[in-house]
Order: sequence, then C-alpha cells, then structure tokens
Amino acid sequence: MEKGIQWNEQVDVLVVGSGFAGLTAAIEAGESGKNVVVIEKMKSAGGNSIISDGGIAAPDTKLQKKWGIEDSEQMMYDDMLKAGLGLNHPKLLHTVVSNARSAFEWTIDALNVPYLDRVDIFGGHGVARCYTPEGVTGGTILKKMLQKINELGIPILYSTSFRSIITDEQGHVIGGAVLKEYDYRADTGIPANIRTQRGIILASGGYGADVDFRSIQDPRLDEKIQTTNKPFATAEVLKSALNIGATSVQLSEIQLGAWSSPDERGFGDGPLFADYILFQYGVIVDPHTGKRFVNELGDRKQLADAILHIGYPCIGIADDKAVKYSGWDISKAIRKGVVKTFDSMDDLATFYDINTEALQASINRYNGFVQRGIDDDFQKPIVDEAYPMEKAPFYAMRLWPKVHFTMGGLSINERAQVLDFNDNTIDGLYAAGEVVGGVHGASRLGSCAITECIVFGRIAGQNI
Ligand SMILES: Cc1cc2nc3c(=O)[nH]c(=O)nc-3n(C[C@H](O)[C@H](O)[C@H](O)COP(=O)(O)OP(=O)(O)OC[C@H]3O[C@@H](n4cnc5c(N)ncnc54)[C@H](O)[C@@H]3O)c2cc1C
Repeated sequence: MEKGIQWNEQVDVLVVGSGFAGLTAAIEAGESGKNVVVIEKMKSAGGNSIISDGGIAAPDTKLQKKWGIEDSEQMMYDDMLKAGLGLNHPKLLHTVVSNARSAFEWTIDALNVPYLDRVDIFGGHGVARCYTPEGVTGGTILKKMLQKINELGIPILYSTSFRSIITDEQGHVIGGAVLKEYDYRADTGIPANIRTQRGIILASGGYGADVDFRSIQDPRLDEKIQTTNKPFATAEVLKSALNIGATSVQLSEIQLGAWSSPDERGFGDGPLFADYILFQYGVIVDPHTGKRFVNELGDRKQLADAILHIGYPCIGIADDKAVKYSGWDISKAIRKGVVKTFDSMDDLATFYDINTEALQASINRYNGFVQRGIDDDFQKPIVDEAYPMEKAPFYAMRLWPKVHFTMGGLSINERAQVLDFNDNTIDGLYAAGEVVGGVHGASRLGSCAITECIVFGRIAGQNI
C-alpha cells in the first residue's frame, strides 16, 4: 500500500492502447521476459491503426533496390523536415529515419507481414519509399501483431479505460488508475489501480476526433470539420500525463487530409483514387475558374491549405490510362458515387458546372508540362511514367479536407521517455505513436506515422 492506494493487480509494464505503437511496445517488452499487460478502452484492438491503409515508409530497402530507386536516410530526413517546415525535433526525426528500415524489416522478419510488390511515392516524398501491406489495410499488420501478442501470452484487457497516472512522493510513476468494464458511451466503469514495477507506456493515439481539445489548439477545427479518425481518438491519456508535469509540444499542428471527399463519411474509399492515382497523374482544379492552383504532389499541408483557401470543394481529375497504369482497384469508390466517370471532358465540366473551354485549356497546358517533364506553373514533379491526360473515361472526385492526424503530443527523448517542463525524464513514463509530438513538425508525410509508431514502439518496449 502506497499513499493509501489499494492495488488491484501488479505488472512489470502497463501499455495503454492496442494500436501499432502499443502492440509493438508490448511485443518488445514481452520478448525480454517482462510481465506485460495492454489495456484498451474499446471492445476490440486496433484504434486508428486498423483502419489505416497500413502504408509504411523507409529508405534504402531491398524493395527499392529491386525497383531501381535510389534513396537514403538523409533524403528521407530532408523530405520530412521540409514538409514539417523545419519544426520537427531533429533528434526525434533522426531516430525515426535511422530506424525506419529496420522497423520495416522487423514487420517482415519478426511478424511475417505480407507486402505488395511495389513501392509508391506520395506527396512531399522526393522518391518512392512507401510500402503497402496486402489488402491495402493496417488490419494486415495488426493481425500479425496480435498473433505475436498471443504467442507471447500477453493479455489485452479490453473495455479498460486509463484515467490517471499514479506517482510516489518523488514523482516516480508507480501505477495507473483505470476503469474496468468500461462503458464508452456512458463514460463509466469500475475503478481499479494497476501497480507497475517498470512503468507505463502511453500509446493512446492522437486527438483528431476530440473536437473540444483540438479546437482549443486550432479554433478552425470545430465540429463542422469532419475527421477520418475513429470517434474515440481523444485526448484524455495525453491530459493525464500533462497533469503530472509532462510537457506537450506543437499541439496546434493538426493535419488535414486533402484527399478526402465530402461525399462520404470518415476516411472512406475516395482517398485511394486521390492519393494513389490522381495526385501523381492528374490535376486538381477550382470549379469556379477551371484552373489548377496547386502542385498536386505537394505535401498534405500545402494541399489542404490551398483547398481551404479556395473555400469550397475542388475537383480532382485523372484519365483512364492513369487508373489502368496505377494498378489500383477503385471500383468501390465508383460504386459509392464518390469517384465519378465521364465519357468526355465536356461531360465532366458540365456535371461539375465548370467552364468547358477553361477546363480544356488547363488540361492542355498541363499535358504540355507532362510532355516536357517540367511544370512551369506549380513545379509538380512529373513522374517518369506520366502521360498526357487524354484517354476517356475520365475519373473525377470532389475534394474537401478532413482532420486526419495530430502532429503535436507529449515531449519525449530518443529513448521514448516522457519529458517534464525542465526537459528531465519522468521516471517510469514512456510514450510512442501518435500520442507523441515533435517528429513531424508542421506536417506529416504519408506513411511516416506507421514508421514512427513501430520505431518508437520498439524503443519504448526495449528501454522500459
Ligand atoms: C483512416 C486513416 C488512414 C491512415 N493511413 C495511414 C497510412 O497508410 N500510413 C501511415 O503512416 N499512417 C496512416 N494513418 C495514421 C496512422 O494510422 C496513425 O497515426 C497510427 O495508426 C496511430 O497508431 P497509435 O498506435 O499511435 O494509435 P491508435 O492506433 O489510434 O491506437 C490507440 C489506441 O489507444 C486506445 N485508447 C485511447 N485512449 C485510451 C484510454 N483512455 N484507455 C485505454 N485505451 C485508450 C484507443 O482506443 C486505441 O485503440 C492513417 C490514419 C487514419 C485515421
């Protein structure tokens, strides 16, 4: 009994959250023989990780070599720093980039995650370095992580919500207060205290769905802006750490996904078309002018800010050749009516009420850039396999940003230890994944969140 606390159970390591960061940390801690318990407030595992595309980025990999792609840690570092507008904490960014390849290989060698035999480039990356698991879903990775967790005999306590961190008189973390049999809708449960010998790893994800908390940080992001996150991506665990003196960094850096459609809820099926096909091979136009206004392969912040600045949904267009060449199956988005097909550019212009001549002039001008390999207007990198857009049917989608990722979060060091206001470590407190801030600065590049979850999940699990 400490401070009159009634302990209900005792473990070496308590992991909060069953997404990629939490499960990775639990696996690493479990592999070293620790008695680990994962708690998860919902009835099943996976958080936002399970609904992600599962895209993971890493430089200098075998797959890149196979496809003849030259890359390096420095190039990935520079791309992430550029997108982050230089706000990325250099040591954390360096840790992610220098461990990215081994994190990716760990998912293959230790977990047996199957990946597609392709390497993709997403906006803001200078070269193709993004890998996609079979099924184009984070569920593929999560399933393998859960298999490993089972093999190691690590229990996941579902419907168990973390409420507060318990410290001793010296400020060392000695346990956590939780609600068991947690009823998410009523926010109620049975109080219990878990004593920890080694400490707690916070891996509770971001706060993209916490409208109250996110709009304190960025008042534009009120309830009128949709999110791609699950509704339980909220800030209570982050706040519990702030309550014992942890420092937060960059909480107002909240990413909007520019590939989202206002014609479906959540992440949906449109982003597969927008992010994987249209941004590389197509154009985005302002329907009021018929003109392009942005580098379609800009990073997420550039794209989302440009569309928000226009003030209404814009139209993304690609042609049949692009869709066929990409190899992606976008039939679901077409069936849902999120992506529409047109026999001619005139039909497309009429449907979206765009001036036909203005639109055709924009397409002709863009096609000229593709032929010359240089975009004089917006400096979009013209990928080698790009062709002029001229082959019907034409595919189009309305684009309007949704809250997608929170770059801000807890301040940690390279060993995943949570830091206080004086930059000192808080004994027994670790964090990994989206609950952490500072890696991505002002804007995260696609596929780099999962890399971060696995890199820092492994570090947290090993160091605790
Ligand atoms: C639709 C979508 C697609 C994405 N696609 C990609 C992609 O392809 N590549 C990429 O790099 N990134 C992608 N991202 C971002 C990436 O998926 C997330 O940043 C990452 O999965 C977060 O992992 P995590 O483990 O930190 O948190 P999560 O996976 O969100 O897990 C956190 C868990 O903690 C639990 N939790 C929260 N509070 C408590 C509490 N009080 N008590 C107990 N448990 C709690 C939650 O219920 C949740 O299960 C995507 C995000 C979304 C929303």
